[in-house]
Amino acid sequence: MESTPTQDHEFPRRGLKPGFVDFHIHSTWSSDGDFTPAELVGMARANGFTAISVSDHDTVAAYPAAIDDGIAAGVEVVPSMEVTAMYDGREFHCLLPFLDWTHPAIHRISRHVSDGRWVEARERVDNLHRLGLDLSWDEVAARVGRTPPLGVTIAQILLDKPESRRDPRLMKYYDAEGRPLAPKFFYMDYFMEGRPASVPKRHIPLLDVLDAAPASGAVPVLAHPGAYFENATRADIKLLRARGLEGLEVYTTYHDEAQTRFFEAIARDLDLVATAGSDFHGRVKPQVSFGLIRDGHYGMISSLRSRRRGSNAI
Ligand SMILES: [Zn+2]
Ligand SMILES: [Zn+2]
Repeated sequence: MESTPTQDHEFPRRGLKPGFVDFHIHSTWSSDGDFTPAELVGMARANGFTAISVSDHDTVAAYPAAIDDGIAAGVEVVPSMEVTAMYDGREFHCLLPFLDWTHPAIHRISRHVSDGRWVEARERVDNLHRLGLDLSWDEVAARVGRTPPLGVTIAQILLDKPESRRDPRLMKYYDAEGRPLAPKFFYMDYFMEGRPASVPKRHIPLLDVLDAAPASGAVPVLAHPGAYFENATRADIKLLRARGLEGLEVYTTYHDEAQTRFFEAIARDLDLVATAGSDFHGRVKPQVSFGLIRDGHYGMISSLRSRRRGSNAI
C-alpha cells in the first residue's frame, strides 16, 4: 500500500531521516508476539526502517531495554504501548507514542488493563472448561508467565495440546489450509461477543486514557480505526479529537484502499497526524510480515513529537 503525500509528508525536508517508520509493532512482551525487541530492531534495520515503535498490549515492560537495543542496531525506538479501551460500547485500541514509561499515569493505565485481563483470561478458561473442552487454568498459567493471555493465546494453548486433536469439535482447526489462522478462527467461534465462551469486557474507558496519558508525554493515536470491532465513524473521531486524540493510524494492514482514503481525509479535515503501523506480531498474524506497511516516514515522528504535552514534553 503506497501513500499519497499528506500535509504531514515532510520527508525529505532537511533534518528528517530517510527510511521507513512503523508505529505499531508487538514484541514478546505482548502475550501474542514472537520476537524480542532486539530481534525487531534487527529486522527493522534489515528492512530499511529508520524508526519503529515497540507498542505492546497494555504494557511498557519492553522499556528501557528496547531503547538500548535500538541504539545498538542504529534504529530509533519510539517508546509506546497499545491500550485496549472501551468507547461507546466498542473496543478501541489506542497507541501512546512518546510516553514516559516511568510515569505514574502510564502505570495506572497498565495496571487497570492488566487486572481486568487476568480476570477475563480466567473466565475464558472456566467457560471453555464448562463447555467440556480440555483446558485448565494451570496449563494456561504455565505457558504465559507474567503476561495475562489474550483470547487468541488461550486458543493457541488449547490447540497446541495433543489431546485437542481428538476432540471432534476442534478437528476443523487442524486442516492444513486454516492452520495458521486457527487461533483466530477459534476466537471468533468461541470468544467473540454472543459466542459460548465470551466474557464481559473490562477495558479502561478510552476517554480516561485520553485524559491521563498526555501528562506522560504520550501523544494518543487511534489504532486501526477501520478494524471490524472498532469501526470508528467520522463522528466518533471528531469527538475523540476534541478530547485529546492527536493521531490516526491511517496506513495499516487492517484497511483496504477505500478505508485508507476515507481515514486519510478524516485525518486531514480534523488536523490529526496520519500514522502508519503494521501491527506485526509474528505467528499469530501470519499474513502480516515485518515491513508490510511502508507508508510511514520520519515526518510523522516529527509531527507527533511537536504535539507532546506535559511535564516531560520537549
Ligand atoms: Zn490493535
Ligand atoms: Zn496491535
